[in-house]
Amino acid sequence: MAEIIENRYNRQELISGWKQEKISKASVAIVGSDALAGFTSASLAALGFGEVTIYDNARFTKADPTEFLLKLSEVTGSKVEALEDILGKMNPMVNVIGVHAKMDSPAMAELLWKPKLIIEATNSPASKKVVYEYADKRKIPVISASADLNWGEIYVRQPGDNGGNMDAYEGKPQGAVPAEVLAGFIADEARKIIMPLGDGDEPIKQFTYSCASPKRFSRDKEVEIGTDNFSGKRVLMIGAGALGNFVGLGLAIAGVGKVDMLDFDNVEVTNLARQILFYDAVGQNKAKALAAKLKLINPKCKAKGINGKLDENYTEYFEKNQLDLIIDCVDNQATRAFSNFFAVKYKVPLISGGTSPFKGQVMVYKPGESSCLDCRYQVDAALGKERVSHSCTHAVEASVIMSNEIIGGLMVAEARSIMSPEQYGSPIKKMIMYDSRSAVRAGLVGGETSCDCTRGDIKEWMGEVLGKAKEKKAE
Ligand SMILES: [Zn+2]
Repeated sequence: MAEIIENRYNRQELISGWKQEKISKASVAIVGSDALAGFTSASLAALGFGEVTIYDNARFTKADPTEFLLKLSEVTGSKVEALEDILGKMNPMVNVIGVHAKMDSPAMAELLWKPKLIIEATNSPASKKVVYEYADKRKIPVISASADLNWGEIYVRQPGDNGGNMDAYEGKPQGAVPAEVLAGFIADEARKIIMPLGDGDEPIKQFTYSCASPKRFSRDKEVEIGTDNFSGKRVLMIGAGALGNFVGLGLAIAGVGKVDMLDFDNVEVTNLARQILFYDAVGQNKAKALAAKLKLINPKCKAKGINGKLDENYTEYFEKNQLDLIIDCVDNQATRAFSNFFAVKYKVPLISGGTSPFKGQVMVYKPGESSCLDCRYQVDAALGKERVSHSCTHAVEASVIMSNEIIGGLMVAEARSIMSPEQYGSPIKKMIMYDSRSAVRAGLVGGETSCDCTRGDIKEWMGEVLGKAKEKKAE
């Protein structure tokens, strides 16, 4: 336990200006217990908000994988009690309280008991009205969020604001993809309200995400989105860390039939503030621990954890297994060079994501239709440089849950589009960029380029990559 207290928040505390005690002292009320409230409450518990109280009176018998926290809990019946149980396991340092109450009258709102921040995460205009009135009277900021299966929005409401009308969502079910993406943004805006990092680090007023819009962060030109069954699809995920947790979770919820996951690392206490599915897996191999959790969340998903690092020795795997998609969730360009090699060689689509504490990006390579990772980032040269200089750096770097949850959710949306463009619309050709410090937070950037790269024998390719790196080093 002593080690948990000492190390748990170590990676986020490396961020300049981060004051964990401000977060640890803050009380937050979350109204609702559907997908948005679930993902949001998990994010806030992971970050270490001192008190997280969740309000709803909904009950459940058999949870859908979308409500993954209920699937992981041993409590049945009351949704908020199941959330209290599982979130208490995810972070024992946070006081998580489930209150079995619906916000349908001013008298019920009195149960909110003056938190520092209220997150209204239902699709109910009646609940929002009650919460806004309570918050205005006591001058408490509200982050109001709603979502349907494909789009959702958040509104940061300061006391007295008139906005925050989300009537359009009434009665609609909340989808896991918009919930996952928006929960990352909600957690980041909550962090800005409770612990701003300097001037200008202010919460946004309003934010929209729609995987049904070709622009993604707008409701313009919505395409008709259906549903598909991914039970026949096979995906390889490289890396089962912070990004991997959120991508793997999304793939399991989407019902992908086979998910192979590759990681050589073991779970450490310092991972737990971001890698939310590893709460009881310290010391275990990450890929295997994640596979075990995904099978609990969706028993129809054949998740397989492989203890290993992608390199030139994986040719046999790609020769033997027909993949529909490769998803790269690693944090280094050298490994991305191998993901890219195999994607180009075997003509398998590749989704690559990367994060830093306040930023992240998603790139989709669809053979013949968009540019590969080497054309965009020169990953082959990075691999050559690493091998020639033997510079495998293991510096401890700052990291935080929000960018990983946002980018992970965005990658899952693109994965659905790759696997079923008929039902989910075309995957992006530009890059998605997320920046916590930009006024718009996220958007599509760059051009819609494509390449016609090919790859042959891996040994010959490695020889060329190393040769170029040696020449460069000699210069
Ligand atoms: Zn290329």
